[in-house]
Amino acid sequence: MQALKMRDLIDQLYADASGDQRDLLLGVIDAIEGLTRQFDREFVKQCEQGKREYSELYQTMANLGLLGLGVPEQYGGTGGGLTAAVLMSDLLGQKGVASLSQILSGFSRHPILKHGTEEQIQTFVVPTISGQKSFCIMVTEPSAGTNTFAITTNAKKTEDGWRLNGQKTFITQADKADYGLIVTRTGALQGGDNRRDGISLFVLDMNSKGIERQKLNINLGRSEDTQWNVFFDDVEMPENALIGPEGRGMLCMFDALNPERFLISALALGFSEFVLGNTVDYVKQRSPFGRPTGSYQSVQHPLAKSRIQLDAARLMLYQGTKVYDAGGEAGEYANAAKYLSSTFGTDTCDAAIQFHGGSGMDDDTDVLNIWKLLRTLRIAPINNEMVLNYVAEHSLGLPKSY
Ligand SMILES: Cc1cc2nc3c(=O)[nH]c(=O)nc-3n(C[C@H](O)[C@H](O)[C@H](O)COP(=O)(O)OP(=O)(O)OC[C@H]3O[C@@H](n4cnc5c(N)ncnc54)[C@H](O)[C@@H]3O)c2cc1C
Repeated sequence: MQALKMRDLIDQLYADASGDQRDLLLGVIDAIEGLTRQFDREFVKQCEQGKREYSELYQTMANLGLLGLGVPEQYGGTGGGLTAAVLMSDLLGQKGVASLSQILSGFSRHPILKHGTEEQIQTFVVPTISGQKSFCIMVTEPSAGTNTFAITTNAKKTEDGWRLNGQKTFITQADKADYGLIVTRTGALQGGDNRRDGISLFVLDMNSKGIERQKLNINLGRSEDTQWNVFFDDVEMPENALIGPEGRGMLCMFDALNPERFLISALALGFSEFVLGNTVDYVKQRSPFGRPTGSYQSVQHPLAKSRIQLDAARLMLYQGTKVYDAGGEAGEYANAAKYLSSTFGTDTCDAAIQFHGGSGMDDDTDVLNIWKLLRTLRIAPINNEMVLNYVAEHSLGLPKSY
C-alpha cells in the first residue's frame, strides 16, 4: 500500500472525526515522506557499514516533532494518540527504515503517562520527546519465560527507596537505553486470581551501580537492535522509581501491552510492504525464460495473496488504534493485529525469498534479515500461541488452557 492509499485509509477512517486528528495524521504522512527521502534504506545500509550514524535520523525526527507523537501536547508532545505513532512506524517500515529500538520508548511511555505522577512524567517521559532519553523494557526472565507472573527478580523496600536483585533476559537495547521500564516482585508469589498481586512496576536508571550486561548472540540485521542478559546486584532505586501502586504493577503494565502489540503490528506491516514492493519490481524484470517470472500464475498468486492479507491486517490495526485512542476496549484488536501482521509478514518474506531464487539467500537482496525480524515477531513480545489462548478464552468463552 503506497502513500496515496495510506492517505485514503486515514481519510476514510477519520471522515466522521474532528478535522484536527485527520489533519495531524495526514501531516505525519507528509513528514515521513520528506524524512525518508533523506533517510532511506541506503542510509540504514551505510549505518551498518559504519559510514553514518542512526543518531542523524533520530535527531531529525526529534526536530520534526515525530518522537513526540502519542504524547499529549500539554507535556510538549505532538499528540495524535497511538494512531499517529503507529502510522509513523508503518510508514518508516514501508521504506525499510523502522527498527525495534525506535518503538521501545513509544510504548514504555504509556503506563507512566497513565499511572505516573506529574513529576515522573516530567522526569521520564518529557526527555524522550527530544530524543535526549530512551527506554528499554524489561519483563522476560530466564525461568519464567512467557509466564510473567512467575518472575523472581525482586525489589525490597529500603529506608529511602528500593533495592533490586535478579536477572532479565532478551532485553533489546539494554546497552543504549537510559531508562528501563521493569516489572519486579515486591511481594510473595500468589496463586489463582491473585497471581497478578505482588508485582510492581519501576523505571530504572540504566546507569545505576550494580547493573551488568551480557550480549546475546542474536542478529536481526540492525546493529542497534541488540539483545542482552541484564543482571541486578543490590541496585538502589529511589522512591520515585515506583510507577503506580506497589504490588499492582501488572495492571499498570497491561497499559503498555496493547500499545506494544499495535506498534509491533505496524512495524511488521511496514516491512512486509517494503519486501512485497521490492519483490514485485524484481519479478517484473527477471526473465530466465525470456519473459518475466511475474507473468506466471504460480508467482503472481502468493504475491496477490500477500496484498490482500496485508490490507486486511492493516484495516484491523488502524480500526483498533482508533478504538484505543477513543478510550474503548482494544485488546482483541491489538491481539488480532499482532497475530495477522506477524503471520502474513513472514508469509510475504517467504514468497519474496522464493521468487528471488538463489539471490534471495544473499544478504544484499535485503529479504533474509527482514524475514528474521518478522519471524521473531511471531515469538516476541508475546508468542502467537498466547494470542490464540487469549482469543479462545475471551472471544470464544473456552476454558483457560494453561
Ligand atoms: C529478538 C527478541 C527481542 C526481545 N526483546 C525483549 C525485550 O526488549 N524485553 C523483554 O522483556 N523481552 C524481550 N524478548 C523476549 C520475548 O518476549 C520472549 O522470548 C517471549 O515472551 C517468550 O518467552 P521465552 O522465549 O522464554 O519462551 P517460552 O516461554 O519458553 O515459550 C516457548 C514457546 O512455547 C510455546 N508456549 C509457551 N507457553 C505457552 C502457552 N501457555 N500456550 C501455548 N504455547 C505456549 C510458544 O510456542 C512459545 O514460543 C525478546 C525476544 C526476542 C527473540
